[in-house]
Amino acid sequence: MEQPILNKNGNGNGNYEYEMIIKWFEDVSKKASSVQTQILSNILKQNHGVEYLKKWLGDYNVLEMEPCALESLFTSLVPISSHADFEPFIQRISDGDTHALLTRQPILSCSLIPLLTKTCGHVHICMNENNIHSAYKNYTIYYYYNKVLFMWWWFCSSGTTEGRQKFVPFTQHSAQTTLQIFTLSAAYRSRVYPIREGGRILEFIYGSNCFKTKGNLTVGTATTHCYASEEFKTKNHKTNSLSCSPQEVIFSGDYKQSTYCHLLLGLFYSNQVEFITSAFVYTMVQAFTNFEELWREICNDIKNGTLSSRIKSPKMREAILDIISKCPNTNLGSKLEAYCEELEKVDWFGLVPKLWPNVKYLCSIMTGSMTPYLKKLRHYANGLPLISGDYGSTESWIGVNVDPCLPPEEVTFVVVPTFSYFEFIPLHRNQYEICDDFLEDKAIPLSKVVVGQQYEIVLTTFTGLYRCRLGDVVEVAEFHNGTPKLNFICRRKLILTINIDKNTEKDLQLVVERGSQILNKAKAEVVDFTSYADVTNQPGHYVIYWEVKGEVEDNVFYACCREMDLSFVDHGYVVSRKTNSIGPLELCILERGTFKKILDNFIAKGVALNQFKTPRCTNNHVLLKILDSCTTKRFRSTAYSSN
Ligand code: AMP
Repeated sequence: MEQPILNKNGNGNGNYEYEMIIKWFEDVSKKASSVQTQILSNILKQNHGVEYLKKWLGDYNVLEMEPCALESLFTSLVPISSHADFEPFIQRISDGDTHALLTRQPILSCSLIPLLTKTCGHVHICMNENNIHSAYKNYTIYYYYNKVLFMWWWFCSSGTTEGRQKFVPFTQHSAQTTLQIFTLSAAYRSRVYPIREGGRILEFIYGSNCFKTKGNLTVGTATTHCYASEEFKTKNHKTNSLSCSPQEVIFSGDYKQSTYCHLLLGLFYSNQVEFITSAFVYTMVQAFTNFEELWREICNDIKNGTLSSRIKSPKMREAILDIISKCPNTNLGSKLEAYCEELEKVDWFGLVPKLWPNVKYLCSIMTGSMTPYLKKLRHYANGLPLISGDYGSTESWIGVNVDPCLPPEEVTFVVVPTFSYFEFIPLHRNQYEICDDFLEDKAIPLSKVVVGQQYEIVLTTFTGLYRCRLGDVVEVAEFHNGTPKLNFICRRKLILTINIDKNTEKDLQLVVERGSQILNKAKAEVVDFTSYADVTNQPGHYVIYWEVKGEVEDNVFYACCREMDLSFVDHGYVVSRKTNSIGPLELCILERGTFKKILDNFIAKGVALNQFKTPRCTNNHVLLKILDSCTTKRFRSTAYSSN
């Protein structure tokens, strides 16, 4: 498949490169159907004979087959799957099994360093690990035939079914598609909001800590691997802009210190900043909110060329002081201080344009579960354009926002047909809408989707997932040439989510079990329960409603509440709790008979008794009204309170 021509050096010919990538995208989107058939053929031929596929495709000679015939064979023989189907294979790979299980890339060595590998086609020269900066050690190099590819594994923050984290393979292909989508969306943005070449980007981005599996593979979040990749650095060239923060800030491992330094450098370079970005918008909002407390110290550091003692990381201190101590800027520091005094009086309304006068827009994922943060962002942005970021997942990038002018509430994503092979399961709403699930039809290819219909996306990727459900519900808004434009609707089986946290019904059940064990010791029991992700106030928090049989002291409920808060093991939840972007869990005790009242309510609406299931999570306001009016006591968790 022809790939867009991306100039590796990106030295100043951005407009030409942008036009080239848009032209490439227009071409592939016009022939999306045949491109998809070819992509599937490429994936299957590249990974022919791997153990997972052999099970379904048997001895068919995939290498000799025409793409169309292969597509029919694949969709008729390989079943629709979910992550659980790949887990045993991924477990074996992470334990060190080097057979071709999901991809044909045998693992012969690991823990070498890409920073010192020179990319030339697929050939890399590897050097000694001891010479490397620690930030770049988070790689695993795989040998593919006689070529070296580097491959990382990330754990998927969304993947906590039954309390376990999902591992999803990440290869050089993943890093390349990341570069492609960054460049493509920058190209569309630059048509509407051109930025000054050589300007800076203030990026609120954070790498996380990585760990090794038994088989010595490196595991970390998707974003961590992206930020450390060569492709990420190339991205800055391609978008003709420089980050304000060096890698030492992104990888400090302490989000509070990193945020301080992002803000400090963002203001140090304030006149050069062309746009502000973060992966998900809640991080950006959180950074500005922190600034309300930090501004005096930051301005002081700018004036004196010093660094606050709150920054402990020696590497980060060294990197920052190297930048700011050389040119203390009393004028800038005093000017910013005066602006902040004014801003404080107006509750920080218009903070962004006041402090960053040349910023053209703010760009971040603002759709789906990020929508509640828009109100606060608009307060800070005072009319600056908000551009919603692209649509992707750990498994694969999916769609690009080609209409940067649209407000986040109206944004759609055009599926990029070269990223993966996409299928769509038509979904139909359950008649009574009492539970979150849908009725399904047979999966159809990308070219057959219908405008106005909702679907679950199914992915076949270059990294070894075959017909794997993504779990997202999308609606086809229209077509862009031959490829659909999707509206993100919701996570399908996800019930509790506030920002990056994702918990399923099963996760909630396990958490409630843990809490009720404490209750049981006090000779009481949970009769029934439900939950609610309350985002009416910032930070949002989870509310769990319990109907309880038996009498217990309040201190027992406090203990249950704390235990449940700590029992959500989803990485996104834990990180958000630690950073207080999700508030303490609330436990509401209901009067006896509340769930009966709820049942009566549904039955009155025509639901058959044997069809009724207590909704485990709700945002139905009739239900919430019943729950709130029946709440007799409320408890807030004290877990994570030292943060
Ligand atoms: P993860 O795999 O943890 O990176 O999470 C990926 C999930 O985040 C997707 O499956 C979506 O549910 C959600 N997501 C990603 N991009 C967007 C977007 N632009 N709008 C709404 N939700 C998104």
